[in-house]
Amino acid sequence: MPAVHTNLIERARANGIVGAGGAGFPFYKKLDATADTVILNAAECEPLLHKDKEILRHDLAGVLRGMKLTMTQVRATRGIVGIKEKYTDLIAEIRVAGAPLGIEVFELGDYYPAGDEFITVYEATGRVIPPGGIPLDVGCLVCNVETVLNLDRDVPVTRKFFTIAADVPNPVTVCAPIGAKFGDVLRAVGADPAQIGHVLVGGVMMGRNMKSWDEPVTRTTGGLLCFPNEHVLQRKYETESRARSLIGKSACDQCSFCTEMCPRYLIGHPVEPHMAMRGLGFNMVGESLMLSSQFCCECNLCSLYACPEDLFPKDACADNKVILRQKGLNHPAKGKRDLKAHSMQEYRHVPVASLIKKLGLSGYKNKGPLVEIDWHLDEVRIPLKQHIGSPAACAVKVGQRVRTGDVIGSAPDGLGVPVHASIDGIVAAASGDEIVIRRSE
Ligand code: SF4
Ligand code: SF4
Repeated sequence: MPAVHTNLIERARANGIVGAGGAGFPFYKKLDATADTVILNAAECEPLLHKDKEILRHDLAGVLRGMKLTMTQVRATRGIVGIKEKYTDLIAEIRVAGAPLGIEVFELGDYYPAGDEFITVYEATGRVIPPGGIPLDVGCLVCNVETVLNLDRDVPVTRKFFTIAADVPNPVTVCAPIGAKFGDVLRAVGADPAQIGHVLVGGVMMGRNMKSWDEPVTRTTGGLLCFPNEHVLQRKYETESRARSLIGKSACDQCSFCTEMCPRYLIGHPVEPHMAMRGLGFNMVGESLMLSSQFCCECNLCSLYACPEDLFPKDACADNKVILRQKGLNHPAKGKRDLKAHSMQEYRHVPVASLIKKLGLSGYKNKGPLVEIDWHLDEVRIPLKQHIGSPAACAVKVGQRVRTGDVIGSAPDGLGVPVHASIDGIVAAASGDEIVIRRSE
């Protein structure tokens, strides 16, 4: 049984709740703030992912209670659920259940990246978060659907919702033990890893290549997108960094479509990926061309949709951000308030349907119903670092028996959260960065 804690912040930390939408920021830190508005980010704009919608269908009351707890904690007077307008049945339910709690709905268009928190905040409130800032700078706290559900459940986080989609017989959303190996998860939903050529972890737009079938589910896993070999996304994601730069240097014609379609540029931020591309060929004056990359959110829209030459402006920006951090350079607009959105902002939304077509995803079922799975895993691999901040410290020894929910990694002194066992079993390995638990009979 989890320990009883006296306040919400302590409980959120003890239960290991982190932002489940991808970044993994420890939620207890977010709760230790003041905001006038809490926004539940249910936009889920990555093509083929369905977990947030499925969680809302599965436990709407729990999600709204978690959101209300968050609102009370940060003293917010307004709660907004940002959700795609196409989910009309769900929206009707949220309006009815949310009204008594002071929670309203904001309907977002079905475009990408409606779920980027800067865009969600702008659409729902009209406020532009300063470049390099966070939603709290404009009085908003943005939280993920699963994160607030975990707050309401008030038990150690040992399971994770995510969607398995694209080239699999039946796309589904599952709630799997943290530490489950991707190969075991695929087999549990009736897919054969041997038949899959390439896997993106997270999403098709902001995901990354899977390292191996032994890679584990973590507190931030949002999706496993499976593709056959030679799919266009495999080619894009497997192009080497040097090749990306060389192609960009020789083929970019500076048409600026990447900038004109950039969602951060369109809300008024000085993000100009065409300048980053120009910088690839002009090393001696590169720093001034790099600065406009600082506030890129790496949504990948420029590389995977906007560029007519099929180039990699997102990667040019991402590489520049690393260099800017190393050199301690900042764009002069960092922190600037009262920026105005571009006059064409609302007309340049990229429909998810267009993205699906462009990325060769039209042949896949765009659905992912939540399915219950009776998990029988022989082994889980639980990383000690699944969040932003310091890793948890190993708190178990090889041979030790553990039960689901036991602390196996203690919270660090600074920013960070503990890690818990996700199955009953025996600790088989306790290295510097992960705990392996084998099921005991
Ligand atoms: S990267 Fe592509 S979209 Fe951007 S300026 Fe170059 S050719 Fe145009
Ligand atoms: S990835 Fe491209 S489109 Fe997205 S914010 Fe960065 S520069 Fe803009």
